[in-house]
Amino acid sequence: MKQPIYLDYNATTPTDPRVVEAMLPFFTEIYGNAASRNHSFGWTAEEGVSKARNIIGEAIGATGKEIVFTSGATESDNMAVLGVAEFYHEKGKHIITSPIEHKAVVDPCQALEQKGYEITFLDVDEHGRIDLKQLEASIREDTVLVSLMAGNNEIGTLNPLTEIGQMTRERGVLFHCDATQGVGKIPIDVEAMNIDLLSMTAHKIYGPKGIGALYVRRKKPRVRITPIMFGGGHERGFRSGTLNVPGIVGFGKAIELAMEEISSEAERQIGLRQHLYKRLTDELDYVFLNGHPTERLPNNLNLSFGYVEGESLMMGISEIAVSSGSACTSASLEPSYVLRSMGVGDDLAHSSVRFGFGRYTTMEEVNYAADKVIGAVKRLREMSPLYEMVQEGVDLSKVTWTSH
Ligand SMILES: *Cc1c(COP(=O)(O)O)cnc(C)c1O
Repeated sequence: MKQPIYLDYNATTPTDPRVVEAMLPFFTEIYGNAASRNHSFGWTAEEGVSKARNIIGEAIGATGKEIVFTSGATESDNMAVLGVAEFYHEKGKHIITSPIEHKAVVDPCQALEQKGYEITFLDVDEHGRIDLKQLEASIREDTVLVSLMAGNNEIGTLNPLTEIGQMTRERGVLFHCDATQGVGKIPIDVEAMNIDLLSMTAHKIYGPKGIGALYVRRKKPRVRITPIMFGGGHERGFRSGTLNVPGIVGFGKAIELAMEEISSEAERQIGLRQHLYKRLTDELDYVFLNGHPTERLPNNLNLSFGYVEGESLMMGISEIAVSSGSACTSASLEPSYVLRSMGVGDDLAHSSVRFGFGRYTTMEEVNYAADKVIGAVKRLREMSPLYEMVQEGVDLSKVTWTSH
């Protein structure tokens, strides 16, 4: 077994060798500018782009014409939020979203707030779910956009997209969905779900980094956005800039492969997830699941470990590559804003670990990870006076701590 073991597939994925193979000719042979209309170099590059566009559109129940290529989901999210806000500002300046959206949605919303827009951040419950009744009550005459993600990148919780889409469509409000973690993993259909704008990226589904797309609905209703990038008028004027042809071709191949095995892979990864969860909860106490027990991404397991310190835990499991809520592993010293919004306390937020499974994860690797985590948590708890007190039946909430 190769080490360290990669269990961070919600952060990024390796590029599938079949994707790399599909991309290669587009670096050295088919290198034309897809916007060059005067020669075959341009035409063949454009053919590659067009094929990928159609595959990507089809994967989400849209058409190729509705796909706008970007540099990734961060750009797609910014484009959707800022582009809708600017274009429809005469209709209204109210946007509804949630506090556990990716920063690529939260930050542009906060930037708009500074410019006089009003943003409603819906409450989320302890599982990271929004309340549909609160959403309905929040929609106003001047609401122009509801932006809610498909699956949360940290805790895996899924949103009820069909219900949200039905509500926004009835009320004539645009629905943007950051489906970066959902596409290729769970069924997404922009028609059935009434999604008007949808963000995605290749590198979360075994494609290359630096290429993504924004789906922009063309009819019923025709969605307009003000571009954030100006120039040659590429991509229907929505996003100027020479197309990243090899990246686009790789994105197309990646989504094609993901769709071929979407249900079998989901089932396999849920099996791995349940196995890891069972082993950890059978062999350890005070293990808490973050996110929804069932309505969650197939490849995400987020757990907090009581009575261990996040940093020490991460050091204890250095053979496995995971993401954690411990303060020193994130750029800021704040614990996860997602867990905090769900009401998770600082201690449990700091000791949270996100396990992300993927195409190359094996049962052997999962068992190895389980052994390491169990060993590390047990070792740390042996040194924990708090854990010892709890074992002796002391109710920590009733203890009066004195300092000298
Ligand atoms: C990874 C991710 C992004 C950012 O995508 P990039 O292509 O890396 O910019 C946005 N939203 C979600 C939900 C993600 O998981």
